[in-house]
Amino acid sequence: MNLRIRSALAVGAALVLLGGPAAVATGRFGPAGRAAGIPAAAGAAAPDGDSDPAAARATEAITAATGVQVAAVNRGDATAFLTPVEQPLQEAMRRRFEALRAVRATDFAAHLDGPPKPEAGGWRVTVELTFCAGAPGCGAAPVLVPTLWTVNGEGAHLAEWGRSTRYGPRPWEVSELQAAIGNRVVVAASPRYASRLQATLQAAEKAAEKADRYARWRPPPSRYVVYLAGADEWSTWYGVKQPAWAAGYAMPITPQHTEIVLNAARIDGGEALNTLTHEFSHVSTLAGVRRNYTDSWLLVEGMAEYVTHVGKPTGTYPWLGGTRAYVGSGKWPGTAALAAPAETASVGDATGRYGVAYFAVRRLSERFGEDKLLAFFAAVARDGRPAEQAAPETFGVPWADAAADCDRYVRSVVG
Ligand SMILES: [Zn+2]
Repeated sequence: MNLRIRSALAVGAALVLLGGPAAVATGRFGPAGRAAGIPAAAGAAAPDGDSDPAAARATEAITAATGVQVAAVNRGDATAFLTPVEQPLQEAMRRRFEALRAVRATDFAAHLDGPPKPEAGGWRVTVELTFCAGAPGCGAAPVLVPTLWTVNGEGAHLAEWGRSTRYGPRPWEVSELQAAIGNRVVVAASPRYASRLQATLQAAEKAAEKADRYARWRPPPSRYVVYLAGADEWSTWYGVKQPAWAAGYAMPITPQHTEIVLNAARIDGGEALNTLTHEFSHVSTLAGVRRNYTDSWLLVEGMAEYVTHVGKPTGTYPWLGGTRAYVGSGKWPGTAALAAPAETASVGDATGRYGVAYFAVRRLSERFGEDKLLAFFAAVARDGRPAEQAAPETFGVPWADAAADCDRYVRSVVG
């Protein structure tokens, strides 16, 4: 399983039926550098160090062809986009073009990831593609596509589009997409779910407004990006396998860019608002974090639930019953450890794991104020400092004291 998804927090099957918090993929990132483009004039070096004229010509021709396609995407010219595409690939590339246009791809760019190498009478090269959905100014989320080109006196023609890497295939590569685009969110889906786009967008715009308020450490994303996945797409997009019963997940492609996938079969309009607010809150509160924050599970999930339910009475929390059952089961390890409780198959326990995280974080805010809660979250969940160090500095009390107070609060809320 993919490193970044390996620590995904699975939620119970029935939680999905309740519209539970989607699994969040957490992980650590390597350097997010994009591969350097190969200037057309740079040519290519043969193994012995001498310049290889054929490779240099291929580099120049392929760079020119990708340049034509980039300009075509950015101005919406399908004919120009397909000009350097060989006939057998035309239909698939047209679908990709239409999908990119549907999500309003801007700042579309392509760079060769190295010099092309001769193969099967053509030239093999990996192309790195980036774009922003909906509006410019996003964090780059590069995808790497192995391609094969034929090169002749007329230029380069795309003969093969391979299986992309770095969290590919992306939805636009493999699915026909339609999209609804708002001020803060792009929601895209295959035509099968097109009738749900507008309602999902309306919920997503409300969710974004809440999540934006907690973008304290990095600017909020230019657009939150949400894909509604059908059953096939659920098991193929991003190259990750998610359990069929999960409601959705957050896919952090780089520390600066996370995309959200909702399981269309498992979520309806009524559940979408809370689930999207939860997921967007991960995006806004964890933006820029490179470390693996699974050691701060309670703060990460509790914060997402806190943002989702802030200002509402504790008695209206939808998983209060599940939280009560979980606390009553004796399986709850308490607030202090911060790590994720053991997975469980039981309905009540599954929702309860999120409930205790929510109420613990809520209590920290009520007792010390939201600013101090956020400072503590930043120190521990974002920066990876021990809670035992951060609590006296931010709260003025030892972590053991603050955590024990959270435990008492949780028990009193669930009665
Ligand atoms: Zn979550």
